[in-house]
Amino acid sequence: MALTGLEIYKRLPKENCKECGVATCLAFAMKVAAGQAGLNDCPRLSEEARAALGEASAPPQRLVKIGPDSSLIEVGQETVMFRHDDRFQHPTAVALTMSDAGDEAALRKACRAFKELRFTRVGQTLQADMIALANESGSQDKMLAAVKTIHGEVPVPMVLSSESIDCLAAAASGPLAGTRPVVWCTGNPPAEKLAELGTKTDAVLCIAGDLQSVADRVEAVMAKGARNILISPGPVPGPRALEFLTQARRAALNKKFRPLGFPALTIACGQDKNAAALDACAYVCKYSAVVISDAWEPYLLLAILTARQNIYTDPQKPVQVEPRLYELGEVTPESPLLVTTNFSLSYYSVESEVEASRVPCRILAVDTEGTSVLTAWAADKFNAETITAALKGSGVADKVRHRQLVIPGHVAVLAALIAEESGWKVLVGPKEASGIGAFLKNDWKIS
Ligand code: SF4
Repeated sequence: MALTGLEIYKRLPKENCKECGVATCLAFAMKVAAGQAGLNDCPRLSEEARAALGEASAPPQRLVKIGPDSSLIEVGQETVMFRHDDRFQHPTAVALTMSDAGDEAALRKACRAFKELRFTRVGQTLQADMIALANESGSQDKMLAAVKTIHGEVPVPMVLSSESIDCLAAAASGPLAGTRPVVWCTGNPPAEKLAELGTKTDAVLCIAGDLQSVADRVEAVMAKGARNILISPGPVPGPRALEFLTQARRAALNKKFRPLGFPALTIACGQDKNAAALDACAYVCKYSAVVISDAWEPYLLLAILTARQNIYTDPQKPVQVEPRLYELGEVTPESPLLVTTNFSLSYYSVESEVEASRVPCRILAVDTEGTSVLTAWAADKFNAETITAALKGSGVADKVRHRQLVIPGHVAVLAALIAEESGWKVLVGPKEASGIGAFLKNDWKIS
C-alpha cells in the first residue's frame, strides 16, 4: 500500500534545508507520494527513516539506468497517463537491431551506418540511442565476439537477446561489465537464475510475456533481490503491445501495482518496414521506454525520432529559440533582414530556407513566448509594437545600410502599421517558408 504525503512527512528531518531541490520538507513529501521524487533526493534522511519508509514510498514506476556512464540512458519514473496532465519525463530510447549471425565486416559496416544516422531537426540532433544484438547464431562465442566488436566501434548502451542465460551472463560480466546492458533471455530460465544474473552483474533484466505472467515473474525475481527490470509484451502484434503498455502503465500509476511499476520495452520489427516503423511511433507515444526497431532506412528512423521529439517536449512550454538577431552566412550591410517569431519550428523553417538559398541574411526572431506567426498575431504578441521593439533592441540598425525588413506573408495586414511605428520600409514575404529562396532572388532589392 502506497504511503500518503503526510505519512512520509512524519519521517522526514523537517529541516526545510532545500537540499532536495524543493522548498520545504512537506512539499518534498508530497512529491515523493506522487512518485515525482525519491527518498534518495533527501541527503539528511536517517537510515532508520529510510528503512521504515522503504519500498512503500518508491515511485509507482521505477527509474532504470541503462548503459555506461559515458552514454547513460534513464527511463521510467513516469508520473502521468496523459501528456496534457504533465510532461512525459524520460524520452523513449530507440535501439536498432543487429545480429551476431553475420561476419565481423558486416557488423563493422552496420556500426558505421549507425554512427552516420544523425538528423538535425529544429536545432536538435536526433539519432538512435542503443544497439539491440540478437544471438541468432546460437553460439556463445559468436555472441561475445559480436559484442566486443560493436562495443569497440560504438560504445552505446546495448540490448542483448539470447535463448541462453549463460550466454547473456558471459556478455554482461565480460565485455559489457560495468555498462548496464539490457538482457532478455528468450529461453524462459528459472526466476532464481534470472535474479542471479540481475544481482551479480549490473544488467537490466527484460521480463517478457502477458501481463499476469510478467507480474508473477517480476515478483519472483524481486524476492531474490533483483531491482533493475524492464517489462515487455514480447514480439506481439501492435494492438496487443499497446494494450499491454496501457494496462501496465495504468496498473502502476493508478493502482500503485508494484510488479508492473517498471518501464517497458517493445519490439517494432518485421517484413513490412513501414508498418513496423508506424508501430514504433505508436509505442513511443504510448508508453514504451525502449523500442527495438529495424528502421535502418533514414526516412523510417527519422519518423520515429520525430515522434519522440514531439511527444517528449513540455506541452506547457513551446519549443523556442532565443529571441534575438541571427546572422546567416557572410552578411554585409546590404543583406536582407527577415522577421519571424521565436517559435522553434517557425525560426528553423526560415533558417533552413535561407541556408538553402545561399543568400546571406539576418533573421530577427521576435519574442512571442515561443508561439508561431499566426498564433502570436492572433494573441497580439506579434504586432507593430513588438516587432519595432525587437528591431530597436537588436541593434540591427547599426549593422545594415538599408531600412527594410521582410515580414511573413501571413501577417501582410501588419505592413502599414509596422512601417508607421518603426519608420522602416516593410516588404511582405511569402506565406510559406518554402517561398523564401525565390523571394530573396527575385523580390528583395534595396530601394
Ligand atoms: Fe527536508 Fe530533506 Fe528536503 Fe532538506 S533535503 S528540505 S530535510 S526533505
